[in-house]
Amino acid sequence: MFTYLMPTKIIAGENAVTKNTDELILGTRAMIVTGKSSGAKSGALADVTAALESKNIPYLIYDKIGNNPTIEETVAGGKAAADFGADFLIGIGGGSPLDAAKAIAVYAVNEPKVGSDFEMYDIFDGKYKNKPLPMAAIPTTAGTGSETTPYSILTLHKEKNKRSFSSCDVFYKVAFLDGRYTVNLPLQIARNTAVDAISHLIEGFTDKKSSPASDYIALEGLRIIGRHLDKLKNGGLGVDECTELLWAATLGGIVISQTGTTIVHSMGYPLTYYKDIPHGMANGLLLGEYAERCACVLPDKIKMCLAALGFADIDGFKAFLKTVLPCDVTFSADELTEWTATTIQSKNVKVCPFDVTREMEIEIFEKCLL
Ligand code: NAP
Ligand code: FE
Repeated sequence: MFTYLMPTKIIAGENAVTKNTDELILGTRAMIVTGKSSGAKSGALADVTAALESKNIPYLIYDKIGNNPTIEETVAGGKAAADFGADFLIGIGGGSPLDAAKAIAVYAVNEPKVGSDFEMYDIFDGKYKNKPLPMAAIPTTAGTGSETTPYSILTLHKEKNKRSFSSCDVFYKVAFLDGRYTVNLPLQIARNTAVDAISHLIEGFTDKKSSPASDYIALEGLRIIGRHLDKLKNGGLGVDECTELLWAATLGGIVISQTGTTIVHSMGYPLTYYKDIPHGMANGLLLGEYAERCACVLPDKIKMCLAALGFADIDGFKAFLKTVLPCDVTFSADELTEWTATTIQSKNVKVCPFDVTREMEIEIFEKCLL
């Protein structure tokens, strides 16, 4: 038995926002949630503000979201949205602003107060009373698939880690996919984010919760990315290639909405938290080894992933990851061991296709990072 749910409407193609302005307008006052530069650099912010102005919709540009947003940043965003009287949000950016907007949508209508029946951290238990604001998504990276997931990954300094909250209430109502917004991404960001998408597709395909529906989508996502590996290596991605990569990343989001992610993601979080390694790169440093271990229990599935991407064997895949993810960060055995005290407790451990122990996680970390 399996279920399949994807409530987000997808509008894909050049000038998707400009040609579908009515779909963008989900209320009467908008707050645009974006990063410090991604909204402007991608060109998406200009298209959105022009669309809102054409319909006389008042808006506030909230461009304060940093990479790997903290929970406190989203509480502040919620207050800004409430003060402005926003009744819908438009998230523009990579996974950081798109995830932040989901938490902001909750806090805007559920003010967290210490000692009340809704405190800041209660968001992780879905304890809020009021339904989050409706949201539209405009991704400017082709990686996280946040536009089609019910997850928001927030940095928690008190836990020295990243943690996700998940609720069907924070699925975006609509997502606009336009490759023009990702075509100017610096090559290394395009590579990191494409590897995040590959990671979602492979993790989802091998996850214990995978289903015929998610598998079908995962393989198609991998095939699409497989067509663009040369340009991810050497540069030269044009709008058409970016459009395809964006679609593949959205498919990755659809897949993990059904399956969740595995230890690649949970073990990647401390690499980002402690070493500031970008999310996709953190996954990519661990992904080859994960695929190799999967091959022992799911040999056919791993063969299918490699074939879809266009690799003859795991070594070819690992070599590709090494080329596109140059990383000179150094790690000590002690810190890697310490991180596994937390990562082994993640729910992602249970959905792995092989049994995971703390010793195994230490071994994976050491093999990949020392
Ligand atoms: P990101 O943190 O959103 O952005 C990385 C960098 O790219 C930022 O400096 C950003 O600038 C810049 N950027 C974005 N679009 C650009 C553009 N078009 N042109 C030039 N620069 C651009 O990176 P991400 O990899 O997309 O997202 C990572 C986050 O998503 C992590 O927090 C991760 O945990 C989360 N995530 C969520 C899910 C999910 O299911 N919800 C899945 C996987 C990962 P600005 O700083 O100006 O924005
Ligand atoms: Fe991810």
